[in-house]
Amino acid sequence: MDDRNQNNRRRTKRHPDWYYYLPTIIVMVLAVICVITVSIAVMAVVQKQRAELNSNGIDKPQSSTTAPSGVDTPENTTVPSTDAVPDQSAIDALMAQADFIAAGYDYQKAITMLETSEYYDTAPELANKVEQYRELDSQLVTYARPDTITHIFFHSLIVDTKRAFDGDVDQNGYNMYMTTVDEFNAILEQMYQSGYVLISPYDMAYEVTDESGTHFTYGEIRLPAGKKPFLMSQDDLNYYSYMIGTGSGINETPVFVDNANDGFAHRIVIGEDGFPTCEYMDASGNITTGDYDLVPCLETFIQKHPDFSYHGARAILGMTGYEGVFGYRTKPSYKDALGAEAYAAEVEAAKEVAQCLRDHGWILASHSYGHPAYGNISAERVERDSTKWENTVQPIIGETDVILYPHGSDINGIGKYTFDNDKFSVLYEDGYRYFFNVDGHAYWNQLGSNYFRGGRRNLDGFRMYHNPDMLADLFDVKKVFDPARPTPVPSNGSGM
Ligand SMILES: [Zn+2]
Repeated sequence: MDDRNQNNRRRTKRHPDWYYYLPTIIVMVLAVICVITVSIAVMAVVQKQRAELNSNGIDKPQSSTTAPSGVDTPENTTVPSTDAVPDQSAIDALMAQADFIAAGYDYQKAITMLETSEYYDTAPELANKVEQYRELDSQLVTYARPDTITHIFFHSLIVDTKRAFDGDVDQNGYNMYMTTVDEFNAILEQMYQSGYVLISPYDMAYEVTDESGTHFTYGEIRLPAGKKPFLMSQDDLNYYSYMIGTGSGINETPVFVDNANDGFAHRIVIGEDGFPTCEYMDASGNITTGDYDLVPCLETFIQKHPDFSYHGARAILGMTGYEGVFGYRTKPSYKDALGAEAYAAEVEAAKEVAQCLRDHGWILASHSYGHPAYGNISAERVERDSTKWENTVQPIIGETDVILYPHGSDINGIGKYTFDNDKFSVLYEDGYRYFFNVDGHAYWNQLGSNYFRGGRRNLDGFRMYHNPDMLADLFDVKKVFDPARPTPVPSNGSGM
């Protein structure tokens, strides 16, 4: 008993009571751990299965029932809809654009535009159009005598005859060398009615390289029978200060428009429609934008009568440099008077106008820097003047190969230019290939081996008043001559 008691006591002493429950506790703890572990494992499996179920729920039903609209949405929503219902307004706009180009006899361009359009295979009317264009194209005939093509030219057009013919010192010059807006529009109308079509000098003649070498040739102008191609240019698109303000623009002082101007537009601007247009100040000082000079007047006419312009041709515009271009005071020496910032703004605006004109088919040309008569000055002076133009005007309007001689003064007689002529060497070196003088004949064209030269007819007050018969092939002067002109139109002037 003692031993047992001792043992019991000893046990009792060595181990507390809970010791005897330890195995049970361990089993219970293990059981709890097992339960938790199993629970976690089960939850993981369940979640995985849910995840699979969910992903199947999103992907499979959609890939089997709505996948066409889900996966292929872009194709399925656009392609079937254009197949079924073509965008008619887009097709109509495309056809109107093609019709405008086709009206200018560029059927090939119009055909390409339709055939390469996204609607060509689905809109049968486009194929019908192409057929029509092919038929019309086959009816065109090559103009047989490109050497007889005439070239007409103008200066700035007079908007307000009251102010232009107000008796001041400039009146006689305007009366002799200018044309009014009304006269210009009447000339266009009559020339259009008699079948004239404006062409580009680059379509009239250009350089080719063939078995006989590199040389200039006349281009093939393809028009309906009876139509007559012609060229047009405008000199001095500068809006000089004597026309638009009270100042003379000399002594390096830039002069901007004021209401004492002589009734001309004062600069080319880019219109809200993106086309080049003109700004004009009336006698009360109000400035408006519109058809106040050759550029917008001709543009408006061509928009109305696209068959008046061959392949999108516009006129050639000649600029001097001594007061800046397009009515912007870009002459470098104006920088001091204007200040660097204002000067830079003038240059930037003129550059944008130049780009806009080019984008709309106008050809920008040199009219010399200082307007000297090239025929009467030395080759050295021609070179100095041409270099000055290159340094001050070309950076703004870009390179050109066309020159409109100031005063119409040619560097040679009617014989062909050769490099024996120092002035021709200078101008050829400077990149010019198209040379235009002034000549009273109905046409005067010369195809050189490495250049093209032509005469231009002045359709101004002088010619209309004194030699209306010389213009009979173009229009009836009686229906054009502005009654606001003082008569007789003087016959002596310094020329422009
Ligand atoms: Zn001039």
